[in-house]
Amino acid sequence: MPQVFLTSQNVDNSTDRMRRLMETAKQHSPTAARIINYAFAYGCGFNFQSVDKAYGAYDKTRNMVYLNPNYSDAELLSTLVHESRHALQPKSFESAKYDIRTNLQWVRATEADAMAHECAAAHEMKKDLPQVWNQFKQKHAGIAAAYESFADQPDKALGEAFKAWHDNQKYVSKYDQNTLDQLAFDAGRSGFDFLKNSIPGEEIGEQICKKDGKSYLEKGFMTSARALIVDERTVWPKVIRVKQAAIEATNHRDSSDEELYTRAPDGTVVSRRTAKSSEKQQSVDNAAGKKCAGLSGSPSDIKNRLTAIKRRTSGR
Ligand SMILES: [Zn+2]
Repeated sequence: MPQVFLTSQNVDNSTDRMRRLMETAKQHSPTAARIINYAFAYGCGFNFQSVDKAYGAYDKTRNMVYLNPNYSDAELLSTLVHESRHALQPKSFESAKYDIRTNLQWVRATEADAMAHECAAAHEMKKDLPQVWNQFKQKHAGIAAAYESFADQPDKALGEAFKAWHDNQKYVSKYDQNTLDQLAFDAGRSGFDFLKNSIPGEEIGEQICKKDGKSYLEKGFMTSARALIVDERTVWPKVIRVKQAAIEATNHRDSSDEELYTRAPDGTVVSRRTAKSSEKQQSVDNAAGKKCAGLSGSPSDIKNRLTAIKRRTSGR
C-alpha cells in the first residue's frame, strides 16, 4: 500500500470537516484506511455537495467523491468508504455495448461491492464509534447481519455482505430500473454494437469483488438464481422494452434475459429459460389442439394422429 499523506492538493481547503472525517475513518478502520489511501493515491478528490437525499456520490468523469453535508458524521464516515470504493472499481465498462444481463449484473456488483466494504469499515469502527455501526445496521439490516455472522473471517464476511445486498428486492429493483431506463434511452443513439457483447457473471465477480488482488466472492454465486432474480412487476416489463428497442434500432435479438429469473408478487421465482420453453411448448400444444378439436378415439390413437398432423403442418 502506498504511504499517502493528506495535503491540501485535492481536498477543499474550506472543509476541515472532510479532513476530519477522512482521518477519523482511517484511524478506526483498516478497511477505510486502505480504500481512502488508494483512492487518494489515484487522484480522487473529495468534496461536499448535497445530491438530493443521497448520502454521497462518486462522479466517475471528474474522479470526485461527494458527501452530503446535511448528514451526521456517523453517517458520512461509512459513506466516505462506500464512495471511495467506487473510485477503485473498473471504469472502462461501456454499458450500451453489453447485453441486458451483463448490464444488470455489472451495476449490481459495483453497488454490492461498495456496500460490502462500507459494511466492513462500519463494523471495524464499531468498538470506538458504535454510532457508525448502529446507523449502518439500521439502514441495511440484512447486509449487517450477513457480515456479522462471519465477522471473525473478514474476507468471507465481505462475500456474505455482497451476496446479502442482492436479497433486498425492492432496493435492488431501483438499481435495475435505472439501468434499464438508461439502456432504453441509449438504444436510439447507440452504435451498431448495442447490447451485442457479454461478460460472464463469474468474470464480473472476479473483476469487481477484489481485495488485495484476490477475489473475496465464492465461485458460483454470480450464476446462481439469488444473483439473477429481477422483480416481475417493476423490472421485467423494462427488460422487454429494452429488447424491443434493440430490435428496432439494429435488428438485434438479445437473449440474455433467458439467464434471469423473475420473482412474482407472491414470491414465486421462475427461470426465464424454463418459462420461455414452456410458453413455446404451450403454443405448439394450443395450435395442435385447435386442429384436432373433432378428434375422438383412444389416447394413443389421438397422439398418433396428432403427430401426423404436426408433421403435415411443419412439412408445408
Ligand atoms: Zn454506491
